Amino acid sequence: MALASSPRRRDLPLCLLLLLSILALPSLTWQASVLGERSLDALSSDAISLLVSTPDPVKNIDPTNPTSHLSKILIPRPPDTENSTIVRNYIISTLRALKWDVEEDSFIGETPYGSKNFTNVIATKDPSAGRRVVLAAHFDSKFFATYPQNQFVGATDSAAPCAMMLDLAEALDPLLDARKQRLEDGLEDDEDVADTTLQLLFFDGEEAFKDWTATDSVYGARHLAERWSTSYISPHTKRRLLRPSETEISTVEHLILLDLLGAPHPLIRSAFLDTAWLFDAMISAERRLFDTGSFAYGDDEGSSLTSFFLPRREGDGNYGYIEDDHVPFLRKGVSVLHIIASPFPRVWHTLGDDASALDIPTMRRWNLILRVFMAEYLGLQPETKAPRSDDGQAHQSVAHSELVSTFAVMEWSWRLTLSSPVTFDQ
Ligand SMILES: [Zn+2]
Repeated sequence: MALASSPRRRDLPLCLLLLLSILALPSLTWQASVLGERSLDALSSDAISLLVSTPDPVKNIDPTNPTSHLSKILIPRPPDTENSTIVRNYIISTLRALKWDVEEDSFIGETPYGSKNFTNVIATKDPSAGRRVVLAAHFDSKFFATYPQNQFVGATDSAAPCAMMLDLAEALDPLLDARKQRLEDGLEDDEDVADTTLQLLFFDGEEAFKDWTATDSVYGARHLAERWSTSYISPHTKRRLLRPSETEISTVEHLILLDLLGAPHPLIRSAFLDTAWLFDAMISAERRLFDTGSFAYGDDEGSSLTSFFLPRREGDGNYGYIEDDHVPFLRKGVSVLHIIASPFPRVWHTLGDDASALDIPTMRRWNLILRVFMAEYLGLQPETKAPRSDDGQAHQSVAHSELVSTFAVMEWSWRLTLSSPVTFDQ
């Protein structure tokens, strides 16, 4: 992320850090070919229970298991190294095993250390879909020239988010297949939502090789945003909402970027007004997972927890943002939800950002939040014993009144102290 040029900048007040990065937002009005704000169907509590248990939400992110996705990624992996190729191939083979379409987007970039090879990985459940919601993280780890710093593995930055994305793909894959079957059988009631697929984007070269500048950072994101904004797509019968001459980038409904996650007690803020509703939907997923007891793990009964999210306040504007892989896309009009811990984890860009910085209950909770949030976004229906329409909660939208009451509590807590996250109790 930005703010990388001097460790002392971490200690500045966040508002000042954010001010450093504030840019005028481009107009989003041209992007009429994608679905905008809408109400999401809330999953029933039975469906949530199923998503919580299948697959096991710990096995993929367990750093003590040498065969977990996380352990396979948790090695030093700066761009253009053998380790980078090993990790990239692991990610690719995991997604190809699910029969996702995987593209390697390779290019050469100029760095302070000369030309380097970079490769983004783009994995798409259904490449024929008209639109995609993109979930992204960077898989490179920061380059350090000398020992022992060159052993840096970037556990929160961003090995853990990459492992969470692989977990999500495995959890949602059968549900995406079932949604497609419903569509083919004429049983899907929202064809527009069903024409949105899930795409996972693993960026290479997010980190600066030396100091963070416009040209020494986000190599993969800059390359891909430029490529997608200049690639025109041919008309497709399934792309019903598209106008002629649409570019690849215009079919990105939202870019949801994960970064610096996996350490305990993260605090996530809403950066952009146009995705505030998605931010709220993520809080709602967290709240309902808590209400169903889904965060209970090990000795922790999950009877109380502090929210990962700082609730929004009425009248909030665009917050300003932390520079990261989303910026090249934001500048081209893509709607962005940035899920990044701020303040950054205390181990940021130190050797301490290894497995010891990660907290399994926290990562498990992220997996569950992502599963419920993305399932509701994509209109997925986990198989429950009772037909979904027989369940009283099944077709309710995330109730406005429920959100209002939740936010009333949050607002109260917010007023107590400006930086205090919200605590839920049962
Ligand atoms: Zn970093």
